[in-house]
Amino acid sequence: MVGRHETRMQAVNDTTASFPTSKRNRLKRRHDRGSYDHEAVFAVLDAGLLCHVAYTFDGQPYCTPTIHWREDGMLYWHGSSASRMLRQLRGGTPACLTVSHLDGLVLARSGFNHSANYRSAMCFGMARIIDEPEEKLKALAGVVDRFYPGRTQTLRAISAQEAKATTVIGMRIEEASAKVRAKGVADDEEDYGHPVWAGVIPVRMVVGAAEPCPRLLPGIVQPENLAGYAEGARLDQALTQAQLAYEGGQ
Ligand SMILES: Cc1cc2nc3c(=O)[nH]c(=O)nc-3n(C[C@H](O)[C@H](O)[C@H](O)COP(=O)(O)OP(=O)(O)OC[C@H]3O[C@@H](n4cnc5c(N)ncnc54)[C@H](O)[C@@H]3O)c2cc1C
Repeated sequence: MVGRHETRMQAVNDTTASFPTSKRNRLKRRHDRGSYDHEAVFAVLDAGLLCHVAYTFDGQPYCTPTIHWREDGMLYWHGSSASRMLRQLRGGTPACLTVSHLDGLVLARSGFNHSANYRSAMCFGMARIIDEPEEKLKALAGVVDRFYPGRTQTLRAISAQEAKATTVIGMRIEEASAKVRAKGVADDEEDYGHPVWAGVIPVRMVVGAAEPCPRLLPGIVQPENLAGYAEGARLDQALTQAQLAYEGGQ
């Protein structure tokens, strides 16, 4: 018999499916901008590298900016084993991980209707320390290969000391939501006659020119699989492409 846990895991790994909704993740404000589809949530997660993870310890909320990566319905992040917060996660704790992208500044004809174009995702689950050695090593390779597919094969292997010094946190996404605003100015009808400039100023995060390490060995050139990070490329698109290449290579 397939248990509830297995059923949920299968559902989370199926990119055509949706996350279940509850009081926790159901959008109340501007629910028309929301989605619970895996595809919509994963698209926001995969286009970003920077996330914020929130948990409460002893009644105090903490919201930590860090790097996340995704394997099917699992989210991972890591930190130093000496980190107070990571050590407190040992028994598992409820967490909320968010990723957001600012896409545009929306200038309206009234202060009230100023807005922003954005894509964001909120994911809920139990954050746990990944102790199982094989899963931990796979996750530590994932943090490199997810962003630069195939790169760990070219690197000096991780040492036991490095693995020990790094804590990996994993969270299976139980519930999640995506919210997107992608449109122009939405003024009150009577304000369109007001004589002031209004419009959208798009915002993009783009990659700069690579700066090779001055101590590169002779003959070492930038590998072709980093072409997605060429100068001027959009970072969200490069990260999405890298995730697809990573999944393809699994
Ligand atoms: C760049 C940016 C700028 C924003 N600017 C504003 C602003 O100026 N004013 C403003 O009111 N809001 C703004 N938002 C939207 C904001 O994130 C919240 O959605 C909004 O404030 C409603 O919060 P709430 O807790 O009342 O939502 P509720 O609808 O009560 O939240 C219920 C559930 O809906 C889901 N949810 C809510 N918000 C989001 C989200 N952003 N992404 C994914 N899931 C979500 C979560 O699962 C949440 O638990 C901005 C978002 C971004 C990314």
